[in-house]
Amino acid sequence: MRNKKPSSVLIIYTGGTIGMVKDAVSGALEPVTFERLQANIPEIDRLDIRLDIQTFNPTFDSSNLHPSHWVTLIEIIEREYKNYDGFVILHGSDTMAYTASALSFMIDNLSKPIILTGSQLPIGVLRTDARENFITALEIAAMKVNNKPMISEVCIYFEYHLLKGNRTTKFSASNFNAFVSPNYPPLAESGVQITFNEAIIRSHNGKKTKFYKSLDNSVALLKVFPGMSPNYVNSILSAEGIKAVILETFGSGNATTEEWFINALKAAINRGLIICNVTQCQTGAVLQGKYKTSTQLNKIGVATGYDITTEAALVKLMHLLAHEKTTEEVRRKFSVPLREEMTVVDWD
Ligand code: ASP
Repeated sequence: MRNKKPSSVLIIYTGGTIGMVKDAVSGALEPVTFERLQANIPEIDRLDIRLDIQTFNPTFDSSNLHPSHWVTLIEIIEREYKNYDGFVILHGSDTMAYTASALSFMIDNLSKPIILTGSQLPIGVLRTDARENFITALEIAAMKVNNKPMISEVCIYFEYHLLKGNRTTKFSASNFNAFVSPNYPPLAESGVQITFNEAIIRSHNGKKTKFYKSLDNSVALLKVFPGMSPNYVNSILSAEGIKAVILETFGSGNATTEEWFINALKAAINRGLIICNVTQCQTGAVLQGKYKTSTQLNKIGVATGYDITTEAALVKLMHLLAHEKTTEEVRRKFSVPLREEMTVVDWD
């Protein structure tokens, strides 16, 4: 039975289109204060939820996102954790999938909802998608069943869908339906009612919630393409300070078998570089060894990311590099689901 007792939600405003207005001179969209944003959505006062707000100063376009913003978010959430039933983070959509993934790794045994939302059109625009996104995100963050939060994970709510945060990717720069969760079903869909996919909603395991505040961004992304040059590959593999590289491969984890390429990867791995395989495809998984074009990768010690998104893979590595003691542990844990961010595929 749904409990109607009023809940409390902390809104954390980071910026993004949802709170932007056109600069009178340049005409470019720039973030404004929460007070100006709120003036465009007085309806939220009618919700039966106690709402408080904390805002980043300055607020920012999420293309300027930095891992230090994730640490600030974790600090706020940790400080306020016992004071609220849920959290709604207003965030630009451009890098929302990175933040959702990062927060999922930076909190272990989460027992409350952290819902990220934003919009494709600013809240002051007549046709805006902000109103529905914001109001429903607040409702979900406040929702309880038997006095326990309905959701206890990091999610993105956008255009009628509640998605598992570390499974999402921004898919459209123009559609209101901007996010997909290609390898994981939506946790909920909102229509006349909000329908939860209860079979896949995780419940809190009862363990103490733990917050992690360090990240190591010594990571790089190497997207393979036909005709890539040894210079391009080597410059990434030998970039100073880089400890781990995400290799974005074709199809189910395939790449050229040219000798120079395999040798370059092998030499880098022998030097201690961690190389992890994710697919360029939107859906499906890396199946290292299925084709001859991935057998070598398997043999030389490239770690498989199965169906993880590139966003989640990058921030998972930042998290692991900051907390694991050895290269071998980072490499091994990359291929093991930490927060349901990947599904291990046994394809033999
Ligand atoms: N550039 C904006 C941002 O990510 C786009 C948006 O919010 O949708 O902050």
